[in-house]
Amino acid sequence: MTQRTLVLLKPDAVRRGLVGNVLARFEAKGLVIVAMEHRHIDAAMADAHYAEHVERDFYPPLRTFVTSGPLVALVLEGDEAIEVVRALNGATDGRKAAPGTIRGDLSLSNRENLVHGSDSPESAAREIALWFPGLA
Ligand code: ADP
Ligand code: MG
Repeated sequence: MTQRTLVLLKPDAVRRGLVGNVLARFEAKGLVIVAMEHRHIDAAMADAHYAEHVERDFYPPLRTFVTSGPLVALVLEGDEAIEVVRALNGATDGRKAAPGTIRGDLSLSNRENLVHGSDSPESAAREIALWFPGLA
């Protein structure tokens, strides 16, 4: 089933010059970029994006991190795109993520883990509407 998912290349990806590396992996897999924007978000946008996490202990430093510099937000489309992107991203903690995944190959952190991918069709719909309200 063709799906769309919201992906963020977080500020560490931009700072470390890994945007091309990460995008190449998604494109090589066959996913299609249907929207993309370079953006520096404020705390309100971070809170809206991470609404499910705002009360968690790890959230204040996560908010500081995701607002610390520009990021790249995009919408990817393809067969089972939501699950496929999360598999390519790897486990949340870069130290534990499997080699071959984006986080497993390129991150050594539980917080600065380079990428976000929507975790369900409901999350994808909410996040795409939040980041790209004009997208048909
Ligand atoms: P995922 O991005 O894999 O879906 P979560 O939704 O659980 O992970 O968490 C959102 C983001 O919050 C993670 O990608 C990571 O940047 C950060 N995070 C999650 N858990 C922790 C933690 N225990 N310590 C620090 N940062 C965390
Ligand atoms: Mg998540």
